[in-house]
Amino acid sequence: MSEKRERAVVCGAGGFIGGHLVKSLIAQGVDVIRAVDIKPLNEWYQVTDGVENLALDLKQKDNCLTAATGATSIYQLAADMGGIGFIENHKALCMLSVLINTHMLMAARDKSVERFFYSSSACVYNGDKQNRPDSPALKEEDAYPAMPEDGYGWEKLFSERMCRHFEEDFGLQCRVARFHNVYGPFGTWDGGREKAPAAMCRKVIEAKLSGKHEIEIWGDGSQTRSFMYIDDCVKGVRMIFESDIHEPLNLGSSELVTINQLVDIVEEIGGIKLKRSYDLNAPKGVNGRNSDNTLILEKLGWEPSIRLRVGMEKTYNWIESEMLASGAR
Ligand code: NAD
Repeated sequence: MSEKRERAVVCGAGGFIGGHLVKSLIAQGVDVIRAVDIKPLNEWYQVTDGVENLALDLKQKDNCLTAATGATSIYQLAADMGGIGFIENHKALCMLSVLINTHMLMAARDKSVERFFYSSSACVYNGDKQNRPDSPALKEEDAYPAMPEDGYGWEKLFSERMCRHFEEDFGLQCRVARFHNVYGPFGTWDGGREKAPAAMCRKVIEAKLSGKHEIEIWGDGSQTRSFMYIDDCVKGVRMIFESDIHEPLNLGSSELVTINQLVDIVEEIGGIKLKRSYDLNAPKGVNGRNSDNTLILEKLGWEPSIRLRVGMEKTYNWIESEMLASGAR
């Protein structure tokens, strides 16, 4: 970045990670000039005062130009997405996020923005390398030959490539992180877009409140994942943004658990044991996915490190307070 003061725009700021990112950038002294999301402001998960908060549909190029005006940096997190239940059933909607990425990159180029951060996903990785619960952790090179998650993953991989070529052809500095499952307070926990950690917290709390001590798990529970706490995520975003690394980099925890172990953790936090049933026809994603953090450790001397048990307790407590406040029984 040049010597002049950073003026940042966060796209997708009404969502989970974007909302946290605005707050963490401000805490680090970055001048966040604008936060943008398609949702009306009263639906944002977090709204930060002192920032220009705009409700704009970033699929439209004119809106992207408005969003990018006066910025030196753009953090592009806006996407139509959700957990596996959403992305397996809304492939076209997921792919339409390519309009957001295309138009934001064009706007960044046209408005002479210096640096562009793009939030990609572990869903870009080749499915053949994730077909066993004990599949080796995914290295950055495992995205090719390409066979990503249908719909959502293809869009992410294509948009990563667009970042690469906007840098090569137009000189726009691009930094790309491949997020592996992120969780924490102020994330989606119901409505169909929630991911496994929040869904498990909600189900355990519902079972406690209703007295019906049962839980349904998608798949047979042996599928493996790693989950990154939100504070690690926003720290990593900033480190990758400031780095000289031009290639996509994994940003995820390497603490691997089965979904059954995730449920064990949530039951322990909730102080309850539930009767488990398994829906083998529900969407469950790949059989095994973990983040190989060799590259981020080598390049940045850091990797996400907040233990799952610690992050899940904070998440559980937040979801419980939200559910109690909304009158859930
Ligand atoms: P989120 O759904 O909470 O936030 C995304 C935000 O983008 C939403 O608030 C949504 O309203 C907004 N948006 C959607 N379409 C828009 C449009 N046309 N114009 C403007 N805003 C629009 O999701 P999140 O968990 O905060 O994810 C942020 C980014 O990180 C996404 O790009 C996502 O694909 C990526 N990612 C997230 C995870 C995860 O585990 N949460 C994992 C991998 C990648």
